[in-house]
Amino acid sequence: MTTNKSLQDRKLQVIARGQGNIYPAYVEKAHNAEIWDVEGQRYIDFATGIAVCNTGHSHPKVVEAIKQQVDKFSHSCMMVNPYEVAIELAEKLVVAAPGESEKKAIFVSTGAEAVENCIKIARAHTGRRGIVAFNGGFHGRTNMTMALTGKVTPYKNLFGPFPADIFHVPFPMELHNVSVKDSLNALENLFKVDIAASDVAAIIIEPVQGEGGFYPAPVELLQALRELCDKHGIVLIADEIQTGFGRTGKMFCFEHANVEPDLITMAKGIAGGFPLAAVVGKSHIMDAPLPGGLGGTYGGSPVGCAAALAVLDVIDEQKLVSRAQQIGARFTARLRELQDKFPAIIGEVRTKGAMIAIELIVDSDANQPNNGLTQAIIANAKEAGLVLLACGFYANVIRFLPALTISDEIIDEGLDKFEQLFSQQVNA
Ligand code: PMP
Repeated sequence: MTTNKSLQDRKLQVIARGQGNIYPAYVEKAHNAEIWDVEGQRYIDFATGIAVCNTGHSHPKVVEAIKQQVDKFSHSCMMVNPYEVAIELAEKLVVAAPGESEKKAIFVSTGAEAVENCIKIARAHTGRRGIVAFNGGFHGRTNMTMALTGKVTPYKNLFGPFPADIFHVPFPMELHNVSVKDSLNALENLFKVDIAASDVAAIIIEPVQGEGGFYPAPVELLQALRELCDKHGIVLIADEIQTGFGRTGKMFCFEHANVEPDLITMAKGIAGGFPLAAVVGKSHIMDAPLPGGLGGTYGGSPVGCAAALAVLDVIDEQKLVSRAQQIGARFTARLRELQDKFPAIIGEVRTKGAMIAIELIVDSDANQPNNGLTQAIIANAKEAGLVLLACGFYANVIRFLPALTISDEIIDEGLDKFEQLFSQQVNA
């Protein structure tokens, strides 16, 4: 009989340990905000495959769009024979992206590829070498994006050497006493110590650090970066791979700060579970690389584009951008009650729309990350029928990324389970 254990045993034989899995729960089917494993156990999904299924698992409209596209054709390569679905999607994305400037898009397959392409485009546009990223940021697992990522273990350890000319500065974290001023001072210092501002091609930032722990970039920081980039001719790249497509209560998170980035990465939520990614940016910057310099065999897969068009319709029809705010408020209210019960352990509840997290500490001391409790909660979530993710520079944050189509009933049921799990593990 096929069980979670039998599949996990087979997995360990043939899949290298580097591609680990959090839960030995093998998916049989998934619908909206629920998953069922091969043994019939039901889970409430607070992870959405890491912020991918914003429109829920297998939304009927997305499934239908995919089926129709597959019936027509599934691949011709955009660089050989292009097709209308990709053009239609690009037409919608250049309008949806924040800011008024005229924009263009390119399509690739994964988030890391989108980030890589931003760097290529920024360098081609500026003719400069330097790239500045932030401590704790996550940008992917390819060589360049690993170098941009601001955390060694597990992402960079054993994998060097990395490309040159990548620099990191601190990211503001109120709980850990890093202010916007600290970040800006570090940038000024960098320009004195390591690289002239006139030699910097781009600054890349997540408007809410995802893997880094759901720390939001304060509005003042994003506005100051915009000014700094304008002053020095630096390309400002918004990595919206985790924050995009309604997740934070705006279509893109930079809108909260009223700042227009030069380039934006899009992936994850773009296509409801299909591997599609994009870079959207100001046309004069996007057009810097020569014809043939950007692309890839599968970039802009017609099936992914058809899924993405359906995702955009669903976000609009079901008003998922404002729903993200309601979901965030519902989670926050409950998590703050939990914080009131455990004030010495829950250091902070952070919410930006439906990107919600709690940071676990020891004895009210933010300098003591509660890694043990975080791990215990994640390890026991399967039993509790929940899919949860940890994250954080200090690995002590539990994040909630529910589908934006989740019902209030399922949120409440999931949070009941979470509260019970939390109390059990605190008292264990
Ligand atoms: N940037 C951010 C902000 C991300 O959250 C991720 C994925 N977690 C990536 C880049 C990399 O995307 P992918 O895994 O699709 O390559």
